Amino acid sequence: AEEVGGSDKEVVKDYFNNDGFQRWKKIYGETDDVNKVQRDIRLGHAKTVENTLQMLKDEGSLQGVTICDAGCGTGSLSIPLAKEGAIVCSTDISASMVAEAEKQAKEQLASSKDGVSAEPVMPKFEVKDLESLDGKYNTVICLDVLIHYPQSKADAMIGHLASLATNRLILSFAPKTFYYSLLKRVGELFPGPSKATRAYLHSEADVERALRKVGWKIRKRGSITTQFYFARLVEAVPL
Ligand code: SAM
Repeated sequence: AEEVGGSDKEVVKDYFNNDGFQRWKKIYGETDDVNKVQRDIRLGHAKTVENTLQMLKDEGSLQGVTICDAGCGTGSLSIPLAKEGAIVCSTDISASMVAEAEKQAKEQLASSKDGVSAEPVMPKFEVKDLESLDGKYNTVICLDVLIHYPQSKADAMIGHLASLATNRLILSFAPKTFYYSLLKRVGELFPGPSKATRAYLHSEADVERALRKVGWKIRKRGSITTQFYFARLVEAVPL
């Protein structure tokens, strides 16, 4: 049975401010103190970020394009987007994540000083859950966050993100496929200490239906699979 969304969200927030922050900062980082599974997830996630950047660049330069990175984590996507010249707004429900993303951005986006290349614009960082985001962006991107939303909350979340975007919305999510459902089931039967939050899988048909409902359609799709990391990546545009 699915839990009540409200309390779910508080649990997720607490997790990503504490244990989850430590765990995911390590996975998304570069240090060697990761186990085999974490290293594999790091690799899969890096591919998702890379494929997202490729999807974006296929449509043209990101110079001056406004982008909202919703659920930005430690800034794995926001920082390369800023390097491409995008005007980025990076938000996350976790204050720890936002602080880490800001710290890393300051380290990695130090001015180029060659006087030739355009200076990257420092992203705007804000602690905010997806539901309280407002404004308009050319592009809204939300990677690996839907896993924290039960299907009953996912439609509204997708609809809200689409309402903030004028041109495109990019989402990644863990697909509800037979093999992965089985893995998740096994994970639930033998919960490890790091499994502090529930994970929700989504079928691509459900995501597509939620987009259609608000007048959007999927233009590009891809998938990323490693041993322990599975993601579908979709780019949606207004119909
Ligand atoms: N998008 C980042 C990336 O791909 O590197 C981070 C992915 S991480 C698995 C999930 C992130 O979603 C966490 O940083 C978490 O705090 C954030 N998150 C979860 N629920 C959220 C919500 N309702 N609103 C905003 N952020 C949320």
